[in-house]
Amino acid sequence: MRYLGQFECAGYSFETAPDREGNQRQAIVFELVPASTVDEPIAAEAPKDGTEIDLSTLRQRALDAAQSTPQAAGTEARRSLYRRSDAVRRYVLARAAGVCESCNQPAPFITLRGEPYLEPHHTRRLSDGGPDDPRFVGAICPSCHREIHHGVHGQSKNDALIETIQRKETRT
Ligand SMILES: [Zn+2]
Repeated sequence: MRYLGQFECAGYSFETAPDREGNQRQAIVFELVPASTVDEPIAAEAPKDGTEIDLSTLRQRALDAAQSTPQAAGTEARRSLYRRSDAVRRYVLARAAGVCESCNQPAPFITLRGEPYLEPHHTRRLSDGGPDDPRFVGAICPSCHREIHHGVHGQSKNDALIETIQRKETRT
């Protein structure tokens, strides 16, 4: 077996297959995608109806989305994972309000879509719990993101971010 990095469960399906004794049994097949596809830059889209969605609504959507792993396979499972990640991204971006949740500096630039550029960072390993729980995802600047992953003080920076997010989340 080879370690290929972290994977996230996008969905699952049932399959009937023979076991070692040749008896038919039902197997659960998990649809896994590399976690790196989840840790992508936040691309917040303007809501289609053009109206602003308030933070608590975004938060509820993100929490609901994070809780559900659908019974789905293949493309549908991936689509569903993308929708779930998108709900979490929108919320954490709104929560950050254009300011890095790690260093408190304004986002380094504005994207073509007119949004402050921040990146979602999972403060816990995805295997430790709900993959996209917004209480464990921060919106941070690229510099902080790199430092957390590669810096000599990355661990303590990550711990501080966890505390910051916890404070914000208990406030809402
Ligand atoms: Zn930062």
